[in-house]
Amino acid sequence: MAIPEYEVFAIRYATRDAGRRDHFIGGDPHDAPMPMDYFLWVIRGEGRAIVVDTGFNAEVAAKRKRTFLRCPVEALALLNIDAADVRDVVLTHLHYDHAGNFDRFPNARFHLQEREIHYATGRYMRFPRLSHSFEVEDICGIVRLNYAQRVLFYAGDAELAPGITLHAAAGHSDGLQFVRVNTARGPVVLASDVSHFYENMASGRPFPTAFHVGEMLEGFEKLLAAAPDESHIVPGHDPLVMQLYPAPSPELENIIVRLDVPPSGPAPSRADQSSRH
Ligand SMILES: [Zn+2]
Repeated sequence: MAIPEYEVFAIRYATRDAGRRDHFIGGDPHDAPMPMDYFLWVIRGEGRAIVVDTGFNAEVAAKRKRTFLRCPVEALALLNIDAADVRDVVLTHLHYDHAGNFDRFPNARFHLQEREIHYATGRYMRFPRLSHSFEVEDICGIVRLNYAQRVLFYAGDAELAPGITLHAAAGHSDGLQFVRVNTARGPVVLASDVSHFYENMASGRPFPTAFHVGEMLEGFEKLLAAAPDESHIVPGHDPLVMQLYPAPSPELENIIVRLDVPPSGPAPSRADQSSRH
């Protein structure tokens, strides 16, 4: 039987100004502006929509001084998706920018790596350096969802549906996972924070929010192993994604892009990095 092909979308819901020095362990010798976007992703096909991550809300945006562009859950309506109809939500990890708004999906089950809930409730959370990336109320909420039998936990790679697989790639957070989706252009890898920007992966320089740097470096290799090439990998926070992929319709320009079609141009890749040196 043929593997189903899905549509895949990225919804940009927030942004922040930042510099190159903010996005690489050890900083960056060429300091220049390098803004960061915030996304959630949608996989659509076979009569349903699967949401990957749930973003943050306006209150958390204000507290953390992020520019909130739109409520990511309300933005689902732009794709004719009602959050109440969503049955499956993948949480790549539980950081504040990926796991807020879960209460807005009253009929969903949440798919999470078990290591992530242990990490987010475990001994390392007494260190602000690590706990800072979580909102404790989100974590309490996920614990409550588990008591309500609405969380499915995985210990490593798993198949969510035919053509949709989850892949553990910890390091940035201890239970981080990415999603691989079959599309008309072959597999698309939603990297989430396994690589925040194309350049983290391309240059082998992880993002500074790190629990285990060695696992982060292995994560880049896992992304590359899961995709035919780098043009099939979508980083978690790179504004270039909005430039490389088309909007599904003119009125969604700068809000939503389609990822199941090829990018319009090259992104920073390992090949550029080696030719530069
Ligand atoms: Zn993130």
